[in-house]
Amino acid sequence: MHTNQGNRCWRKVYHAPMLVRGSTPLGRRGRLTLGSVKASPQTQLRLLELADLDAELARLDHRRRSLPEVAELVRLEARASELKDARVVTETELGDLAREQSRSERDVEQVRTRIEKDRARLDAGQVSAARELASLQSEIENLHRRQGDLEEVVLELMERRETLDRRKDELTNEQEGLGGEMAAVAARRDAAFKEIDEQAARASDQRGNIAAEVPGELLALYDQIRKTKGVGAAMLRAGRCEGCHLSLNAADLNVIRASAPDEVIRCEECRRILVRTSESGL
Ligand SMILES: [Zn+2]
Repeated sequence: MHTNQGNRCWRKVYHAPMLVRGSTPLGRRGRLTLGSVKASPQTQLRLLELADLDAELARLDHRRRSLPEVAELVRLEARASELKDARVVTETELGDLAREQSRSERDVEQVRTRIEKDRARLDAGQVSAARELASLQSEIENLHRRQGDLEEVVLELMERRETLDRRKDELTNEQEGLGGEMAAVAARRDAAFKEIDEQAARASDQRGNIAAEVPGELLALYDQIRKTKGVGAAMLRAGRCEGCHLSLNAADLNVIRASAPDEVIRCEECRRILVRTSESGL
């Protein structure tokens, strides 16, 4: 128990300075942050090189994601998917029509057979009673009408199939054309990706070399800012932060003039590390 209490006590003491820092009064806004991290002017200049490389890496990443070929492929893939669906619908309908046509053709065949049988009975003189004869002739007439109607249905089905066959051919042609177009766009996209990746690999290498020369504490600070800002440092040029493009007021510039060269200064607006150079206007 005693150890635990001691531990808790230590934690309290440890957290105390954090609370003080967190409750910095609003009145401090607009003034510069002078951190505890110190670095020689030369080391601070390395941060500008890092910032340039990080900006380039961000540009490359953005270019990779916003390549027109990527959007174009999404559009073409959507069209390909539409065509595939349309083809399935057309092929299903063609199958239905083919079955319907077979059924109608069988019906026509049955009616024709029936007519032939009736005719054979007539021709053979099997039917002699006048009433029966009239009835048989009437049936043959009805069967002829039925045959005509059924043949009409078959013709109509054939026309619908022809229309759908043409539609299927059109879809197939467009699918083939689209396939070629997609392959060409994908090849252009891949070539662009390759170029971007090569540039990014070079920038990453350079970044690694420079980062290796920056002391750990300063690099950690830089990287922490970079996570939210994209780049962690900016040049102070002619009294202006190159990160957020805001000009510093005279009081802040005086604070910077009075600061030792190894002080690491942060822009109060964008929180980036402000690096002084001969162009800073101090
Ligand atoms: Zn700024």
